[in-house]
Amino acid sequence: MTSDIPAMLGGQPTFPALLPMVRPTIPAFDELQPKFKQVLESGMLTNASFARALEAQVKSYTGGHYVQAISSCTAGLMLSARIQKWRGQVITPSFTFCATAHAIAWNGLEPVFVDCDPKTFTIDPSAVQEAITDKTSAILATHVFGNPVDMDAISQIASDHHLNVVYDAAHALGSFYKGKHIPQWGSTHVYSMSPTKLVTACEGGILITDDQSLSEGVQVGRDYGNPGNYDCQFVGLNARLSELHAIVAASTLAHLEENLSRRNEIAQRYQSNLSKLSGISFQSIAQGNRSSFKDFAIVIDEQRLGVSREAMVKALEAENIASRRYFYPPVHAQHAYAYLPSREVHLPHTIKLSQSILCLPIFSTMTDEQVDAVCRSIQRIVTHGTEVSQRVARRFYD
Ligand SMILES: *Cc1c(COP(=O)(O)O)cnc(C)c1O
Repeated sequence: MTSDIPAMLGGQPTFPALLPMVRPTIPAFDELQPKFKQVLESGMLTNASFARALEAQVKSYTGGHYVQAISSCTAGLMLSARIQKWRGQVITPSFTFCATAHAIAWNGLEPVFVDCDPKTFTIDPSAVQEAITDKTSAILATHVFGNPVDMDAISQIASDHHLNVVYDAAHALGSFYKGKHIPQWGSTHVYSMSPTKLVTACEGGILITDDQSLSEGVQVGRDYGNPGNYDCQFVGLNARLSELHAIVAASTLAHLEENLSRRNEIAQRYQSNLSKLSGISFQSIAQGNRSSFKDFAIVIDEQRLGVSREAMVKALEAENIASRRYFYPPVHAQHAYAYLPSREVHLPHTIKLSQSILCLPIFSTMTDEQVDAVCRSIQRIVTHGTEVSQRVARRFYD
Protein backbone atom coordinates (compact mmCIF):
# COMPACT_ATOMS: atom_id res chain seq x y z
CA MET A 1 0.00 0.00 0.00
CA THR A 2 1.55 3.27 -1.12
CA SER A 3 -0.08 5.19 1.78
CA ASP A 4 2.44 3.63 4.17
CA ILE A 5 5.43 4.68 2.09
CA PRO A 6 6.90 8.16 2.70
CA ALA A 7 6.45 10.53 -0.24
CA MET A 8 10.21 10.85 -0.40
CA LEU A 9 10.38 7.15 -1.31
CA GLY A 10 7.58 7.29 -3.87
CA GLY A 11 4.43 7.30 -1.73
CA GLN A 12 1.56 9.74 -2.07
CA PRO A 13 2.31 13.07 -0.30
CA THR A 14 0.20 13.37 2.86
CA PHE A 15 -1.07 16.82 1.85
CA PRO A 16 -1.91 17.75 -1.74
CA ALA A 17 -0.83 21.36 -1.04
CA LEU A 18 1.63 22.77 1.48
CA LEU A 19 0.54 22.73 5.13
CA PRO A 20 2.17 25.96 6.38
CA MET A 21 3.88 26.57 9.74
CA VAL A 22 1.52 29.39 10.67
CA ARG A 23 -1.60 31.04 9.41
CA PRO A 24 -2.17 34.42 11.02
CA THR A 25 -5.61 34.75 12.59
CA ILE A 26 -6.74 38.08 11.21
CA PRO A 27 -10.15 39.74 11.28
CA ALA A 28 -12.28 40.24 8.19
CA PHE A 29 -11.82 43.55 6.43
CA ASP A 30 -15.52 44.36 6.88
CA GLU A 31 -15.05 44.27 10.64
CA LEU A 32 -12.14 46.72 10.48
CA GLN A 33 -13.37 49.06 7.77
CA PRO A 34 -15.60 51.41 9.83
CA LYS A 35 -12.77 52.01 12.31
CA PHE A 36 -10.17 52.50 9.56
CA LYS A 37 -12.53 55.03 8.02
CA GLN A 38 -12.87 56.83 11.33
CA VAL A 39 -9.07 57.11 11.66
CA LEU A 40 -8.52 58.30 8.11
CA GLU A 41 -11.25 60.90 8.38
CA SER A 42 -10.12 62.16 11.77
CA GLY A 43 -6.54 62.72 10.64
CA MET A 44 -5.28 61.25 13.95
CA LEU A 45 -3.13 58.56 12.39
CA THR A 46 -0.78 57.38 15.10
CA ASN A 47 -0.51 56.89 18.86
CA ALA A 48 -3.99 58.24 19.58
CA SER A 49 -7.35 56.94 20.81
CA PHE A 50 -7.17 53.44 19.26
CA ALA A 51 -3.69 52.91 20.70
CA ARG A 52 -4.99 54.06 24.12
CA ALA A 53 -8.00 51.72 23.81
CA LEU A 54 -5.67 48.81 22.98
CA GLU A 55 -3.56 49.58 26.06
CA ALA A 56 -6.69 49.52 28.23
CA GLN A 57 -7.81 46.23 26.66
CA VAL A 58 -4.38 44.63 27.26
CA LYS A 59 -4.31 45.93 30.83
CA SER A 60 -7.69 44.46 31.67
CA TYR A 61 -6.81 41.16 29.95
CA THR A 62 -3.40 40.65 31.61
CA GLY A 63 -3.85 42.51 34.89
CA GLY A 64 -0.51 44.22 34.22
CA HIS A 65 0.38 47.53 35.81
CA TYR A 66 1.54 50.01 33.17
CA VAL A 67 0.87 49.20 29.53
CA GLN A 68 2.39 51.02 26.54
CA ALA A 69 1.62 50.35 22.88
CA ILE A 70 4.74 50.54 20.71
CA SER A 71 5.80 49.86 17.14
CA SER A 72 7.62 46.56 17.81
CA CYS A 73 9.01 44.33 20.52
CA THR A 74 12.55 45.13 19.36
CA ALA A 75 11.94 48.87 19.86
CA GLY A 76 10.47 48.21 23.32
CA LEU A 77 13.55 46.23 24.37
CA MET A 78 15.87 48.92 23.00
CA LEU A 79 13.99 51.66 24.84
CA SER A 80 13.95 49.70 28.11
CA ALA A 81 17.73 49.36 28.10
CA ARG A 82 18.16 53.04 27.28
CA ILE A 83 15.68 54.33 29.87
CA GLN A 84 16.91 52.10 32.68
CA LYS A 85 20.47 53.22 31.78
CA TRP A 86 21.94 49.74 31.45
CA ARG A 87 25.74 49.69 31.35
CA GLY A 88 28.46 47.23 30.37
CA GLN A 89 27.25 43.65 30.15
CA VAL A 90 23.78 42.20 29.83
CA ILE A 91 23.14 38.51 30.44
CA THR A 92 20.90 36.94 27.82
CA PRO A 93 20.15 33.53 26.36
CA SER A 94 21.56 32.42 23.02
CA PHE A 95 18.59 30.11 22.45
CA THR A 96 16.28 32.96 21.41
CA PHE A 97 15.42 35.10 18.42
CA CYS A 98 18.18 37.46 17.27
CA ALA A 99 16.21 40.59 18.25
CA THR A 100 16.77 39.88 21.95
CA ALA A 101 20.52 40.35 21.61
CA HIS A 102 20.19 43.07 18.96
CA ALA A 103 18.40 45.31 21.49
CA ILE A 104 21.44 45.01 23.75
CA ALA A 105 24.00 45.56 20.98
CA TRP A 106 22.14 48.61 19.54
CA ASN A 107 22.62 50.28 22.91
CA GLY A 108 26.37 49.75 22.67
CA LEU A 109 26.22 47.11 25.42
CA GLU A 110 27.79 43.67 25.45
CA PRO A 111 25.48 40.67 25.31
CA VAL A 112 26.81 37.88 27.51
CA PHE A 113 25.25 34.67 26.25
CA VAL A 114 24.36 31.95 28.73
CA ASP A 115 22.99 28.44 28.37
CA CYS A 116 19.36 27.34 28.46
CA ASP A 117 17.68 24.59 30.39
CA PRO A 118 17.40 21.59 28.03
CA LYS A 119 13.86 20.74 29.22
CA THR A 120 12.12 24.13 29.37
CA PHE A 121 14.33 25.78 26.68
CA THR A 122 14.38 28.98 28.77
CA ILE A 123 17.42 30.65 30.37
CA ASP A 124 19.13 28.55 33.06
CA PRO A 125 19.17 30.59 36.31
CA SER A 126 22.35 28.89 37.53
CA ALA A 127 24.11 29.88 34.29
CA VAL A 128 22.95 33.46 34.88
CA GLN A 129 24.36 33.37 38.39
CA GLU A 130 27.75 32.15 37.11
CA ALA A 131 27.94 34.81 34.39
CA ILE A 132 27.58 37.80 36.73
CA THR A 133 30.61 40.10 36.89
CA ASP A 134 31.09 43.61 38.22
CA LYS A 135 30.21 44.89 34.75
CA THR A 136 26.79 43.22 34.65
CA SER A 137 23.85 45.62 34.77
CA ALA A 138 20.86 43.66 33.55
CA ILE A 139 19.29 40.35 32.57
CA LEU A 140 17.24 40.10 29.39
CA ALA A 141 15.55 36.68 29.22
CA THR A 142 13.03 35.18 26.78
CA HIS A 143 9.79 33.30 27.47
CA VAL A 144 10.66 30.78 24.74
CA PHE A 145 7.68 29.76 22.54
CA GLY A 146 5.47 31.21 25.30
CA ASN A 147 6.88 29.03 28.11
CA PRO A 148 7.58 31.39 31.02
CA VAL A 149 11.10 31.76 32.38
CA ASP A 150 11.71 30.59 35.97
CA MET A 151 10.96 34.14 37.11
CA ASP A 152 11.23 33.48 40.86
CA ALA A 153 14.84 32.38 40.44
CA ILE A 154 15.69 35.24 38.10
CA SER A 155 14.10 37.85 40.41
CA GLN A 156 16.04 36.48 43.35
CA ILE A 157 19.37 36.67 41.48
CA ALA A 158 18.53 40.16 40.22
CA SER A 159 17.67 41.50 43.64
CA ASP A 160 20.79 39.93 45.20
CA HIS A 161 22.98 41.69 42.62
CA HIS A 162 20.91 44.86 41.98
CA LEU A 163 20.33 44.07 38.33
CA ASN A 164 17.52 45.22 36.06
CA VAL A 165 15.35 42.48 34.57
CA VAL A 166 13.42 42.69 31.32
CA TYR A 167 11.72 39.78 29.61
CA ASP A 168 11.47 39.35 25.87
CA ALA A 169 7.84 38.25 25.95
CA ALA A 170 7.43 38.37 22.17
CA HIS A 171 5.79 34.92 22.20
CA ALA A 172 4.00 35.11 25.49
CA LEU A 173 0.85 37.22 25.40
CA GLY A 174 -1.67 35.09 27.30
CA SER A 175 0.95 32.87 28.99
CA PHE A 176 0.62 32.14 32.71
CA TYR A 177 3.31 31.82 35.35
CA LYS A 178 2.09 29.98 38.46
CA GLY A 179 -1.55 30.37 37.49
CA LYS A 180 -1.52 34.08 36.64
CA HIS A 181 -0.76 36.23 33.61
CA ILE A 182 3.01 36.82 33.72
CA PRO A 183 2.93 40.64 34.12
CA GLN A 184 1.07 40.19 37.42
CA TRP A 185 4.36 38.93 38.90
CA GLY A 186 6.11 42.21 38.21
CA SER A 187 9.18 43.16 36.13
CA THR A 188 8.96 44.25 32.52
CA HIS A 189 7.61 42.14 29.67
CA VAL A 190 7.81 43.23 26.05
CA TYR A 191 5.41 41.57 23.61
CA SER A 192 5.51 41.42 19.84
CA MET A 193 2.53 41.79 17.54
CA SER A 194 4.37 40.93 14.31
CA PRO A 195 2.59 38.62 11.82
CA THR A 196 3.65 35.24 13.27
CA LYS A 197 2.58 36.03 16.83
CA LEU A 198 -0.80 35.06 18.33
CA VAL A 199 -1.95 38.65 18.61
CA THR A 200 -0.91 40.59 15.56
CA ALA A 201 -1.09 44.22 14.58
CA CYS A 202 0.67 43.37 11.25
CA GLU A 203 3.60 45.05 13.05
CA GLY A 204 3.51 46.27 16.63
CA GLY A 205 4.43 45.69 20.25
CA ILE A 206 3.24 46.10 23.83
CA LEU A 207 5.36 46.86 26.88
CA ILE A 208 4.00 46.00 30.32
CA THR A 209 5.90 46.98 33.43
CA ASP A 210 5.49 47.58 37.15
CA ASP A 211 8.23 50.25 36.97
CA GLN A 212 6.50 53.61 36.81
CA SER A 213 9.56 55.54 35.70
CA LEU A 214 10.21 53.06 32.86
CA SER A 215 6.61 53.41 31.78
CA GLU A 216 6.85 57.21 31.77
CA GLY A 217 10.14 56.97 29.90
CA VAL A 218 8.61 54.76 27.20
CA GLN A 219 5.75 57.21 26.75
CA VAL A 220 8.26 59.90 25.85
CA GLY A 221 10.88 57.56 24.37
CA ARG A 222 8.56 56.13 21.73
CA ASP A 223 8.12 59.72 20.54
CA TYR A 224 11.86 60.44 19.98
CA GLY A 225 12.29 61.40 23.64
CA ASN A 226 10.19 64.50 23.04
CA PRO A 227 7.91 65.24 26.01
CA GLY A 228 5.82 67.54 23.81
CA ASN A 229 7.84 70.76 23.87
CA TYR A 230 10.55 69.60 21.40
CA ASP A 231 13.16 69.71 24.15
CA CYS A 232 14.10 66.00 24.04
CA GLN A 233 14.79 64.49 27.44
CA PHE A 234 16.93 61.69 26.03
CA VAL A 235 17.74 59.99 22.72
CA GLY A 236 14.50 58.20 21.91
CA LEU A 237 13.11 56.40 18.88
CA ASN A 238 10.12 56.58 16.65
CA ALA A 239 8.40 53.63 18.27
CA ARG A 240 4.77 54.70 18.11
CA LEU A 241 1.99 52.29 17.20
CA SER A 242 -0.13 53.59 14.34
CA GLU A 243 -3.87 53.77 14.80
CA LEU A 244 -4.57 51.34 11.94
CA HIS A 245 -2.26 48.78 13.52
CA ALA A 246 -3.89 49.28 16.91
CA ILE A 247 -7.27 48.47 15.37
CA VAL A 248 -5.99 45.20 13.89
CA ALA A 249 -4.36 44.29 17.21
CA ALA A 250 -7.50 44.98 19.25
CA SER A 251 -9.58 42.75 17.08
CA THR A 252 -7.09 39.83 17.14
CA LEU A 253 -6.69 40.23 20.91
CA ALA A 254 -10.44 39.75 21.29
CA HIS A 255 -9.97 36.18 19.98
CA LEU A 256 -6.78 35.36 21.88
CA GLU A 257 -8.34 33.12 24.55
CA GLU A 258 -10.04 30.80 22.04
CA ASN A 259 -6.94 30.86 19.86
CA LEU A 260 -4.76 29.99 22.82
CA SER A 261 -6.90 27.13 24.07
CA ARG A 262 -7.05 25.67 20.56
CA ARG A 263 -3.25 25.80 20.38
CA ASN A 264 -3.00 24.04 23.72
CA GLU A 265 -5.31 21.31 22.41
CA ILE A 266 -3.20 20.94 19.28
CA ALA A 267 -0.01 20.70 21.34
CA GLN A 268 -1.62 18.05 23.56
CA ARG A 269 -2.74 16.06 20.54
CA TYR A 270 0.73 16.20 18.95
CA GLN A 271 2.27 15.05 22.21
CA SER A 272 -0.06 12.16 22.84
CA ASN A 273 0.34 10.94 19.24
CA LEU A 274 4.10 11.38 19.04
CA SER A 275 5.08 10.24 22.52
CA LYS A 276 4.69 6.67 21.20
CA LEU A 277 7.89 7.20 19.21
CA SER A 278 11.09 6.79 21.17
CA GLY A 279 13.58 9.49 20.25
CA ILE A 280 11.09 12.38 20.22
CA SER A 281 10.71 14.62 23.27
CA PHE A 282 8.93 17.88 24.01
CA GLN A 283 9.38 21.21 25.75
CA SER A 284 8.29 20.83 29.37
CA ILE A 285 5.86 23.34 30.78
CA ALA A 286 5.87 23.44 34.59
CA GLN A 287 2.70 22.65 36.52
CA GLY A 288 0.65 25.83 36.97
CA ASN A 289 2.16 27.51 33.92
CA ARG A 290 0.36 28.01 30.63
CA SER A 291 2.22 28.38 27.36
CA SER A 292 0.82 30.28 24.40
CA PHE A 293 2.43 27.59 22.19
CA LYS A 294 3.50 30.28 19.78
CA ASP A 295 5.53 27.35 18.45
CA PHE A 296 5.22 23.62 18.97
CA ALA A 297 8.61 21.95 18.96
CA ILE A 298 9.83 18.38 18.97
CA VAL A 299 13.36 17.45 19.94
CA ILE A 300 14.85 14.65 17.86
CA ASP A 301 17.30 12.17 19.29
CA GLU A 302 18.80 10.89 16.05
CA GLN A 303 20.28 7.74 17.60
CA ARG A 304 17.02 6.58 19.13
CA LEU A 305 14.69 7.73 16.36
CA GLY A 306 16.86 6.43 13.53
CA VAL A 307 16.30 9.61 11.49
CA SER A 308 18.27 12.83 11.73
CA ARG A 309 16.61 16.20 12.13
CA GLU A 310 17.84 17.23 8.66
CA ALA A 311 16.43 14.09 7.04
CA MET A 312 13.12 14.66 8.84
CA VAL A 313 12.91 18.21 7.43
CA LYS A 314 13.44 16.91 3.88
CA ALA A 315 11.06 13.99 4.28
CA LEU A 316 8.33 16.26 5.70
CA GLU A 317 8.88 18.65 2.82
CA ALA A 318 8.12 15.79 0.40
CA GLU A 319 4.86 15.24 2.33
CA ASN A 320 4.00 18.93 1.79
CA ILE A 321 4.45 19.65 5.49
CA ALA A 322 6.36 22.80 6.44
CA SER A 323 8.67 22.57 9.45
CA ARG A 324 11.21 24.96 10.87
CA ARG A 325 14.56 24.59 12.61
CA TYR A 326 14.12 27.26 15.24
CA PHE A 327 16.22 28.70 16.84
CA TYR A 328 19.05 27.63 14.55
CA PRO A 329 21.77 28.80 14.45
CA PRO A 330 21.64 30.04 18.05
CA VAL A 331 22.31 33.77 18.38
CA HIS A 332 25.86 33.54 19.74
CA ALA A 333 26.90 31.60 16.61
CA GLN A 334 25.43 34.09 14.12
CA HIS A 335 27.75 36.26 12.01
CA ALA A 336 26.46 39.43 13.67
CA TYR A 337 28.09 38.39 16.95
CA ALA A 338 31.40 37.15 15.60
CA TYR A 339 33.07 40.27 17.07
CA LEU A 340 32.31 39.30 20.65
CA PRO A 341 35.06 38.14 22.99
CA SER A 342 32.54 35.83 24.68
CA ARG A 343 31.69 34.06 21.43
CA GLU A 344 33.63 30.97 22.31
CA VAL A 345 31.61 30.47 25.46
CA HIS A 346 30.54 27.01 26.43
CA LEU A 347 26.80 26.58 25.76
CA PRO A 348 26.33 22.81 25.40
CA HIS A 349 22.56 22.66 25.92
CA THR A 350 21.93 25.55 23.53
CA ILE A 351 24.05 23.98 20.81
CA LYS A 352 22.53 20.53 21.21
CA LEU A 353 18.97 21.88 21.32
CA SER A 354 19.40 24.07 18.28
CA GLN A 355 20.77 21.07 16.36
CA SER A 356 17.93 18.76 17.31
CA ILE A 357 14.84 20.96 17.51
CA LEU A 358 12.10 21.03 14.92
CA CYS A 359 8.97 23.20 15.04
CA LEU A 360 5.84 21.72 13.46
CA PRO A 361 2.84 23.52 11.99
CA ILE A 362 0.53 25.05 14.59
CA PHE A 363 -2.24 27.59 14.07
CA SER A 364 -5.65 27.94 15.62
CA THR A 365 -7.61 26.88 12.55
CA MET A 366 -5.59 23.68 12.19
CA THR A 367 -7.91 20.66 12.45
CA ASP A 368 -7.44 17.48 14.49
CA GLU A 369 -7.29 15.57 11.19
CA GLN A 370 -4.38 17.73 10.04
CA VAL A 371 -2.53 17.19 13.32
CA ASP A 372 -3.09 13.43 13.07
CA ALA A 373 -1.95 13.42 9.45
CA VAL A 374 1.31 15.20 10.37
CA CYS A 375 1.88 12.60 13.10
CA ARG A 376 1.15 9.70 10.74
CA SER A 377 3.64 11.15 8.27
CA ILE A 378 6.31 11.34 10.95
CA GLN A 379 5.47 7.75 11.92
CA ARG A 380 5.90 6.43 8.38
CA ILE A 381 9.10 8.40 7.91
CA VAL A 382 10.45 6.80 11.09
CA THR A 383 9.26 3.33 10.02
CA HIS A 384 11.33 3.77 6.83
CA GLY A 385 14.08 5.62 8.68
CA THR A 386 17.01 3.78 7.13
CA GLU A 387 15.84 4.27 3.54
CA VAL A 388 14.91 7.91 4.17
CA SER A 389 18.34 8.60 5.63
CA GLN A 390 20.04 6.87 2.69
CA ARG A 391 17.96 8.86 0.22
CA VAL A 392 18.87 12.14 1.90
CA ALA A 393 22.55 11.19 1.98
CA ARG A 394 22.49 10.20 -1.70
CA ARG A 395 20.87 13.48 -2.71
CA PHE A 396 23.80 15.19 -1.16
CA TYR A 397 26.05 13.59 -3.79
CA ASP A 398 23.61 13.79 -6.76
C1 LIG B 1 9.27 38.13 16.95
C2 LIG B 1 10.28 38.20 18.05
C3 LIG B 1 10.91 39.40 18.38
C4 LIG B 1 10.79 40.62 17.54
O1 LIG B 1 9.56 41.22 17.63
P1 LIG B 1 9.26 42.49 16.71
O2 LIG B 1 7.90 42.92 17.18
O3 LIG B 1 9.25 42.00 15.30
O4 LIG B 1 10.30 43.49 16.99
C5 LIG B 1 11.75 39.43 19.47
N1 LIG B 1 11.98 38.33 20.21
C6 LIG B 1 11.42 37.15 19.92
C7 LIG B 1 11.71 35.98 20.81
C8 LIG B 1 10.57 37.04 18.81
O5 LIG B 1 10.04 35.86 18.48
